[in-house]
Amino acid sequence: MSAQVLVLYTGGTIGMVQTEQGLAPASGLQERIEIALGMSLNTLPSFEVLEISPLIDSANITPKHWTKLMSILATHWRDYDGFVILHGTDTMAYTASALSFMLGACAKNIILTGSQIPLGMNRSDATSNLQAALSLAISHRIADVSLVFDGKLMRGNRIQKISSGRFEAFHTPNDDLLGELAIDMQLYPARMIDSNRDTSDTRFENKLVSFREGAVGVITLHPSQPTTIYQSLLDDDNCRAIVLLTYGAGNVPDQNPAFLSFLTEAMLRKKNIVNLTQCLHGGVSQGAYAAGSILSSMNVLSGKDMTLEAAFCKLHWLIATGESYYGVLEKWNTNYCGEFTPQSY
Ligand code: ASP
Repeated sequence: MSAQVLVLYTGGTIGMVQTEQGLAPASGLQERIEIALGMSLNTLPSFEVLEISPLIDSANITPKHWTKLMSILATHWRDYDGFVILHGTDTMAYTASALSFMLGACAKNIILTGSQIPLGMNRSDATSNLQAALSLAISHRIADVSLVFDGKLMRGNRIQKISSGRFEAFHTPNDDLLGELAIDMQLYPARMIDSNRDTSDTRFENKLVSFREGAVGVITLHPSQPTTIYQSLLDDDNCRAIVLLTYGAGNVPDQNPAFLSFLTEAMLRKKNIVNLTQCLHGGVSQGAYAAGSILSSMNVLSGKDMTLEAAFCKLHWLIATGESYYGVLEKWNTNYCGEFTPQSY
């Protein structure tokens, strides 16, 4: 009988070993997982590990890896009841977001996880994260691509890495948890995206998109910065969209001529701009302050309460699906997979 769950190992701390250069991903994970999980294997679903070649530290993830992961899922979709993706924590939030836009509501559970300490090392969090992911992979249907980490189940496109030192490495700044795993495993189905959406497997071909590397740039506002930062993105023809990390409720230096000419130029060169707050919690309320009111007239889109990772991937995905500048302006406000809080916007 074939296994119930496919575990895709992309790299990342969870399966790393110590080398002379520091921690690096290593193959042979199936055996190491079986040793680490020991007796608990009897109470977990059966699984097979597929290692992606080459295994990478997730700092090296680029949009082409998102397509590769998606095509692996497509190939094996019918063969398993659920999927676990083992991924480095550094760019987990980007991969989770990109997959959620490509997949939409899923008919099978796709659970991402990783760890802060490698599997098999003293005090590792890998075992509990893995056990949770395997259990959730075939539990109640979770329509969202999701992350389980340190006992919390979170919507993949709302997560951010917040700690390099704590086991609680992720949070969802503007979203509720989808589940909590303490002694009891508590899931909150009402918070998951609409499970009645079309989830037929045959749509996979339409979902596979080729991302354009370098299509989206990010600028973080500071009280004065070299204007070459603006100019370089304007001059880069491959760069189609820019996420602008602004202050507070989405405010910008509206008295700064260099900044204003950047906005005008971006509009003339048809580069989409998305306004996201640098704040760790809350969203953009474009126009709440006079210092942000100019933006809407410049076609700047509100990023609402999306994470940087979700907004970055949403832009990449819209561009990859062939949307023009005007197409992105039109589609941006659609809440495709719970990436922003609908009641607030
Ligand atoms: N550098 C590692 C990675 O993201 C960190 C981790 O997995 O926690 O691949």
